[in-house]
Amino acid sequence: MIPFAALMDHEKVHAERMIGYPEWWWEFRYDHSADFRWTEERLGYSVEIAELIKANYAFQPELVAAVIAERYDGMVSYSDALKWVNDTIQGSR
Ligand SMILES: [Zn+2]
Repeated sequence: MIPFAALMDHEKVHAERMIGYPEWWWEFRYDHSADFRWTEERLGYSVEIAELIKANYAFQPELVAAVIAERYDGMVSYSDALKWVNDTIQGSR
């Protein structure tokens, strides 16, 4: 199970970016734009991945990429997600 702190840090990124305009963020942008979702999720997952590395949590980049590619209504392909996850891991170490 993913450490709670890593998940909360991810969600905190979204919450902070919604401050002041939650409807615009959620209903008008996040729901309708795959590019916007991918931009926002990269911010969330980069914090989450950094937290997992800091906690020495053993995770498989392929599984993270699969979640990213499958959970967000086609915002990014699996191969692009996997490349981004691997690049993010490299940048976090
Ligand atoms: Zn997210």
